[in-house]
Amino acid sequence: MLAYDYILSYDVLMKCIYCQQSGTEVANSRSVARDTSIWRRRHCSSCGKTFTTRETSVGDNLFVIKRNGSRQRFVYEKFFASIYFVLHTGKKSDSGDSAKMAKEVTLAVLEQVFLNNKGKEVRTSKLIELTYKELRKINRSVAFAYGTYSEYRSKKLIQMGFMV
Ligand SMILES: [Zn+2]
Repeated sequence: MLAYDYILSYDVLMKCIYCQQSGTEVANSRSVARDTSIWRRRHCSSCGKTFTTRETSVGDNLFVIKRNGSRQRFVYEKFFASIYFVLHTGKKSDSGDSAKMAKEVTLAVLEQVFLNNKGKEVRTSKLIELTYKELRKINRSVAFAYGTYSEYRSKKLIQMGFMV
């Protein structure tokens, strides 16, 4: 999936497992069928050693902590769909435009999750907050629609001082 390629670009910071220097070069890579992970042969320009890494997308390792405290595996498609829905509902705009925008918002949110806590887990309320902020950059009424879509969302956003 395209989204993952973008997220993976963060990985150029990958450190050498032998000498801990960053800036390893990818000698070759291959993706595995029926798996979203990518195997890469990496070469360290500092110590000259070569090693293999297995990279998976942020979404694959990300868990969402629900409001009742339970953990659920993050589903990229589900998250994307919720954003696409609010962007496209009540608009006469092209569905392709909405999809493109939804993808940008999804990636912007995921990137922040990833950079903040290595993408291991995120609370539902944090996802709502980040999504709301990203949507507001595009259009305030869209962000408002997202916030009022469920009672939980609006309650959370009001608590965080985003909506009054
Ligand atoms: Zn090295």
